[in-house]
Amino acid sequence: MSKPIVLLSQNLNKFVQTLLGDDVEQLVLPEAGFSALDTDTIDRIRGVVAFGGFSGVEMDCLPNLEIIACPGVGYDGIDTAHAAERGIVVTHTPNVLNDEVADTTIGLLLNTVRQFYAAEKWVREGRWAKEGGYALSPFALTGRKVGLYGLGRIGMEIAQRLEPFKVEIAYHTRSKKDGVDYAYYPSLAELAEAVDTLICIVPKTPQTHKTIDQTVMKALGPEGILINVGRGWTVNEDDLIAALEAGTLGGAGLDVFYDEPHVPEKLMVFENVSLLPHVASASVPTRTAMAQLVADNISGWFAEGRPVTPVPETPVPPKA
Ligand code: NDP
Repeated sequence: MSKPIVLLSQNLNKFVQTLLGDDVEQLVLPEAGFSALDTDTIDRIRGVVAFGGFSGVEMDCLPNLEIIACPGVGYDGIDTAHAAERGIVVTHTPNVLNDEVADTTIGLLLNTVRQFYAAEKWVREGRWAKEGGYALSPFALTGRKVGLYGLGRIGMEIAQRLEPFKVEIAYHTRSKKDGVDYAYYPSLAELAEAVDTLICIVPKTPQTHKTIDQTVMKALGPEGILINVGRGWTVNEDDLIAALEAGTLGGAGLDVFYDEPHVPEKLMVFENVSLLPHVASASVPTRTAMAQLVADNISGWFAEGRPVTPVPETPVPPKA
């Protein structure tokens, strides 16, 4: 029997291709899309590795599709409801990126609070020697009250890293976590009232859409800091820009944006905003570990019908 074809989206990093090996035949989706593939090829496509997303319409172009592997933990771009209806298994890459994303979050938090990006620019532009030392940063991290919006796999790693920083830690999730001593707030509004620093690490779902809005930012206050490493979807960027312009929020550190890779021009001008191009997990070691998990999911599926990390929304049919 011929090997199953696994279709790879174009923007995939090379680690996935290297690690997938030759148990499957790899095919990079042509620029022209499915219309460039002949029927025989389409019929042999039984797996997809999709970076960014995969719609129900795309799934329906592939009659024999069995598995979609997402090379990330957030799989909001994949229509899992449609996949479940079709009996297609969706997998993602939880846990292997927790440390990297948590480390990035701490880096972004410090960078934002102390404005190190602007201080570095000062050095690189030769202004230190010409104009003297850089201005004092308006804020410090020590003594802050940090609220985590989301305390899952990554949120917990962030919280544990925050402990030695002499900050108070609190969180909001839909349900209080057993065995967790951090102060719990049953709503985001209550958490924002109680803290001056908010870290967003919730998934993109209908319930999290633009939930960080003017009310939340106003509650954080003029010395308040917002850090977003979850999804841009969760922040109302118009409200954020308005709060920064009015000085009712002290600063923001953002790794993710509503309409990536488009970052609102207005956000680029604020000295008290640190911007990253969605790089929280983007190191060679971590992206390699994520690619390995993609490969393990694909090979686990085709060898034994057992993917390693399927998402809860799609069923894994019992092994025949
Ligand atoms: P988990 O599923 O482990 O954790 C999600 C957390 O969010 C849980 O604590 C959950 O608690 C909470 N949550 C979910 N929905 C809501 C809601 N409506 N209101 C309040 N809390 C909610 O996910 P991970 O920690 O592994 O990843 C979180 C997200 O981070 C990913 O989905 C992805 O979007 C993003 N991410 C971003 C990266 C980047 O590069 N910037 C890299 C990796 C991840 P409960 O269920 O009790 O509400």
